[in-house]
Amino acid sequence: MQTKSAPSEIPTASRHPVSDVSASAPLDPEDWESLRRLGHRMVDDILEHLRTIRQQPVWQPVPAQVAARLETAAPEQGVGAESAYEEFLRDILPYATGNTHPRFWGWVIGSGTPLGALADLLAAGMNATVSGLRGSAPLVEDQVLGWLQQLVGFPSTGSGLLTSGGSMANIIGLAGAVDSRAGADIGRTGLALAARRPVLYASEEVHLSVEKGVRLLGLGTESMRRIPVDSDYRIDVDRLREAIEDDLVVGLHPFCIVANAGTVNTGAFDDLEALADLAEHHGLWLHVDGAFGALAALDPDSRQLITGIERADSLAFDLHKWMVAPIEAGAVLFRDRQSQVGAFATKASYVSKMPGGIGENGTSHTDRGLQMSRNFRALKIWMAIKAHGVAPYRELVARNIAQARYLAGRIEAADRLELLAPVPLNIVCFRYHEPGIGADELDAINQQIVVSLQERGIAAPSQTTLDGRFAIRACFVNHRTEDRDIDLLVDAVLDMGRQRVVGSGR
Ligand SMILES: *Cc1c(COP(=O)(O)O)cnc(C)c1O
Repeated sequence: MQTKSAPSEIPTASRHPVSDVSASAPLDPEDWESLRRLGHRMVDDILEHLRTIRQQPVWQPVPAQVAARLETAAPEQGVGAESAYEEFLRDILPYATGNTHPRFWGWVIGSGTPLGALADLLAAGMNATVSGLRGSAPLVEDQVLGWLQQLVGFPSTGSGLLTSGGSMANIIGLAGAVDSRAGADIGRTGLALAARRPVLYASEEVHLSVEKGVRLLGLGTESMRRIPVDSDYRIDVDRLREAIEDDLVVGLHPFCIVANAGTVNTGAFDDLEALADLAEHHGLWLHVDGAFGALAALDPDSRQLITGIERADSLAFDLHKWMVAPIEAGAVLFRDRQSQVGAFATKASYVSKMPGGIGENGTSHTDRGLQMSRNFRALKIWMAIKAHGVAPYRELVARNIAQARYLAGRIEAADRLELLAPVPLNIVCFRYHEPGIGADELDAINQQIVVSLQERGIAAPSQTTLDGRFAIRACFVNHRTEDRDIDLLVDAVLDMGRQRVVGSGR
């Protein structure tokens, strides 16, 4: 062991130069030059793929012979990087989900950016784990979290974590709710010893990930009240108040309200101020699912939809949706740091804090969520915001909202199209209709239109059911969409409806 009196004896990296830089570990390239060339080709190809994405079909099904090749067993001997890459170009790249295309509006899936993809490459190259170990990565993640607090108008005093997406962010928020409010020390004793059953409230339109959280956290779906919505698909606050009061009367323990800031079906916003008042009155945790809707904060004309969001105890939203980061990226923010750490912090000798070195900060990020090893997804967000600034994201959000309104306007102007829900933000639900056609047949026609649009590679809206009627659903979280793409969708739906030509084209 070295002593302080002989610091010059302490070996340093520079005094131990690696004598043979060309030494090759088994899974590193034998020939770095040829991998470098292949890497350059990969970058060229993927950027060209994105540059020309508009010329490609939005989506195409995986042909049977390709699917068969993707079912073969792991080879004992590899084919080499170049051949594997050729297989990628042939069998994998052409059959993506389609969400990089300007005419993809299905579900809520962001379009992703070229710079984001390159940043993911750099992050993978660094292979940093953001669990708490000291280095630049946790600082970058914390800087990004600070930026996000600022962007959505959340208190900067709290904490947060980047997550795989909105589902994980919701579950982490709910875990905080359970730990803080589900009853005395349930984190220690478990739900089995709860004196009163904890109950959580959300509207009928809440995302399925909240139910996953409720099941996973051991609350059980019978502890989840699904409150009806009004004609605008917003939670009926009076019915919610009654449900809480009824549960209190029968000796249950209301502990959490989950508010929607942008429902997945129609983009509806619950009245966050009213829910915050109600939560405050009864001492309930308020979790806001703002998967894409929280980003309404970026548009001055829409910001009033999320008034009150800053009063939430926890807020979940995605960065791979309206911030168009490559999948996966989401965030959860807590207004009180201790309630996040309280739900997750654990101790173990092998991750104890050290007076210095790599382990000085212990498990600072692991203590805020479920994962131990965590990827450096913060880099793609950091680089995007550094490179582009916030301004283009404001423009993107405003533009997508305007495009949803434009589509809604074209639908209202067309005799054979009808809107099936209000358009509060960026989601449009509509259908083809014709006088004299029965409800079931209309459903079938519209369903075939969606399938046909997708399978012919024309456009990719998705589907939902509203009031028992099949709806064509278009959600705009796409920085590549132009108004002419929307015209193309409207014309194609009208053509297909009129001609009942709904063949798949295959
Ligand atoms: C997409 C979405 C989620 C889930 O987010 P993922 O990133 O897909 O896990 C949750 N809530 C709403 C409202 C969503 O739109």
